[in-house]
Amino acid sequence: MTRVDAIIIGAGQAGPPLAGRLTATGMTVMLAERHLFGGTCVNTGCMPTKALVASAYAAHLARRGADFGVITGPVRVDMPRVHERAHAVTLKARSGLEKGLSRMHGCTVVRGHARFDGPDRVRVGDEVFTAPRIFINVGGRARVPDLPGVHDVPFLTNTSILALDRVPAHLVVVGGSYIGLEFAQMFRRFGADVTVVEKGPRLIAREDEEVSHAIAEILTAEGIAVRTNATCISLAPDDQGVRVGVDCTDGAPSVSGSDVLLAVGRQPNTGDLGLDRAGVAVDDHGYITVDDTLATNVPGIWALGDCNRRGAFTHTSYNDFEIVAANMIDGAERRVSDRISAYALYIDPPLGRVGMTEDQARATGRQLLIGRRPMSKVGRAIEKGETQGLMKIVVDAESRKILGAAILGTGGDEAIHGVLDMMNAGVTYDVLQHAVPIHPTVSELIPTMLGDLRPAE
Ligand SMILES: Cc1cc2nc3c(=O)[nH]c(=O)nc-3n(C[C@H](O)[C@H](O)[C@H](O)COP(=O)(O)OP(=O)(O)OC[C@H]3O[C@@H](n4cnc5c(N)ncnc54)[C@H](O)[C@@H]3O)c2cc1C
Repeated sequence: MTRVDAIIIGAGQAGPPLAGRLTATGMTVMLAERHLFGGTCVNTGCMPTKALVASAYAAHLARRGADFGVITGPVRVDMPRVHERAHAVTLKARSGLEKGLSRMHGCTVVRGHARFDGPDRVRVGDEVFTAPRIFINVGGRARVPDLPGVHDVPFLTNTSILALDRVPAHLVVVGGSYIGLEFAQMFRRFGADVTVVEKGPRLIAREDEEVSHAIAEILTAEGIAVRTNATCISLAPDDQGVRVGVDCTDGAPSVSGSDVLLAVGRQPNTGDLGLDRAGVAVDDHGYITVDDTLATNVPGIWALGDCNRRGAFTHTSYNDFEIVAANMIDGAERRVSDRISAYALYIDPPLGRVGMTEDQARATGRQLLIGRRPMSKVGRAIEKGETQGLMKIVVDAESRKILGAAILGTGGDEAIHGVLDMMNAGVTYDVLQHAVPIHPTVSELIPTMLGDLRPAE
C-alpha cells in the first residue's frame, strides 16, 4: 500500500487544478483517471460542441451571405473536416493537460478505474493507495432512459454523436433542453432534417415562458420541427432507420428519422466507485451528498463537480476546486451557497443567464420590477443582422438588487457578465443603470432597460 497526502479520483475540471495547488504546498498526490484527461468538457462536452457550433455558424452565415451583400457559391459542409477541426481543439487541450500532470512534481498519475477499499484507501487495479484526504471528481455521463424499444434501435448520445462524420438525413433529438437544442440547431445547419421531441409542454422548461418561446421561434425559423407534449415516447426500427413514437393523443403519432439522439439528462459516475465501502452517502439519483463546503458525510472525503449535484457546468466544477483549495490551504471560509448561478445555452444566438428566472423570483413572494427589450431594438444586433431574441432583467423592488437576467441574442453569452458582476458585487441596480457602456454593444442597452423597469403584473 502506498501512502500519499491526498488522492484525487478523476481528471475532470476540478481534479487537475486541485493537484496543482496541493503539490505546490509540498503535498504528495495520487491522481487516478480511467479514460480521457480533461473529462467531459474537454472530450465530449463544451470544447468539441462549441467547436462544432462555430462550424455550424460559419455554414449559416455563408448561406446568408447575400443578406450582407456578399456573394457565395453553393454552401457545402465537409463533415470529416468539421470533425477534424473539433477533434483538434479537443486533442490540444487534452494533451496539454496530460503533459502538465505528468510533469507535476509530487503528483503520481495512475491510469485506471479507481474504487474505494475503505474510507481512507483507494484501489486502482492491483495498486492500493491510502491518504488522509480523498477528493472525488468523477463527473457524469449521458443518461439512457428506459423508453419502450430503446434497446431495439441504435441510438446516439452526446458522446457517440461526436464520432458521426456524415450528416444524418433526418436526426430526431429526444429531449428539448440545453444539450439537445445545441445539437439540433448545429445538425440542421450542417444540412440534416431535424425534429426535436420534448415530453413537456415547451422547450427548455426551466427558463421563463417568453424565453422558451423565443428559442422555439429561432429554431423553427430554421426549419427544425418541434413536437412538444410528447407524452408517450417510444423507439422502434423502421425503413428509414428509427420510428420515434411521439404522442398518444394528438398530432402524427410518430416521427421517422435516420438517426436518433437521446439527450434526456445526465447521471453521475458513482455506481462503481465502492462508495459503500467508504460509507459515503448518495442521494436517490446516485449524486454524492455534500455540505456547503463540499465535504461528504465521511471526514476527509470531498466531492467536486457534476457528481455532487451542486452544479452541472465546467465553471461550477472549477469553482468547487477553488472553494475546497481556499478553505484547506488559505484558511478561507468559502461556501457553495455564495455562488450565483450563471450559464449559457449555445444555440445561435446564444442565451446568457444569471440568477433567478422571473418565475423563480415570483415564487419567493417578493415585489418585482421587470425590464425587457427585444433584440430588434439593439443597434449592435441590427448592424450585425442578428435581431432575434430578447433581453430581460428581474429586480427586487424593495432592496433594488438584481435577482436575475436573461440575454437571448447575439453576444448574449458575453453581455450577461455585466449583470453577473453587479450581482456578485452586491450593489443596487442603479449602479449598472448609471454606468457608461461602450457603443455599439449589446451591453449598452442594459442600463437603458433598467431605466424602464415596470412592476411585475
Ligand atoms: C454535450 C455537452 C456540452 C456541454 N457544454 C458545456 C458548456 O458549454 N459549458 C459548461 O460550462 N459546461 C458544459 N457541459 C457540462 C460540462 O462538460 C461538465 O459540467 C463538466 O465537464 C463537469 O466536470 P467534472 O469535473 O465534474 O467531471 P468530468 O469533466 O466529467 O470529469 C470526470 C473524470 O473522471 C473520470 N472518472 C470517472 N470515474 C472514475 C473512476 N472511478 N476512476 C478514475 N477516473 C474516473 C472520467 O473519466 C472523467 O475524466 C457540457 C456537457 C455536455 C455533455
